[in-house]
Amino acid sequence: MDPMRTTPAQLVPSAQPGRRVFAVRGLGVLAGLVAAGTSGVAAHAAPARRVRAEEEGWSFCDRCYGMVHLYFGQGVGRCAGAPAGHYLAGYSFAMPHDVPETANAQANWRACQRCYGLFFFGYPSGGWCPAGGSHYASGINYVLPHEVAETPKSQAYWRFCTKCYGLFYWGYPTKGACPAGGAHEAAGYNFVIPHH
Ligand SMILES: [Zn+2]
Ligand SMILES: [Zn+2]
Ligand SMILES: [Zn+2]
Repeated sequence: MDPMRTTPAQLVPSAQPGRRVFAVRGLGVLAGLVAAGTSGVAAHAAPARRVRAEEEGWSFCDRCYGMVHLYFGQGVGRCAGAPAGHYLAGYSFAMPHDVPETANAQANWRACQRCYGLFFFGYPSGGWCPAGGSHYASGINYVLPHEVAETPKSQAYWRFCTKCYGLFYWGYPTKGACPAGGAHEAAGYNFVIPHH
């Protein structure tokens, strides 16, 4: 056992290694709500159900073209395009989650605990993970807008890959590196992801 790895678990005695992620994310969401509640806007804020539930810290990986979570840090997380791990670039995305699915928003997207990528969890199979085998879903249910207009605060051309089930950026001539081999292959919706 590497003592450096056990320290965080000791700080949160009940946390298991795989669940520490949720604790961190939960705190982040809570902090966001607290901040909103203490702002001057709160006095005439919309009902709680209309509070935008978005998780910060998602980014494009310019090696595999996947959507990857930042909290895990640069250079970590198995990447199909680089042995050293994902390399994050560009916008900081804010991923909607735990809101109702609509005609223009698809639920059942999850973060993989092994590769830190976003993938579609709505099929019986878990796709193909760059860490080997299927992706392994974490708890947050992301709900991705699609077939809506791109704005200065959102980016279109994010697509589902039929080979790995990951979300990847389709807007370049090349289509990244798919963990299932070759480049990603798009199908279905044109997702439009909010960013800062
Ligand atoms: Zn990558
Ligand atoms: Zn994975
Ligand atoms: Zn793929």
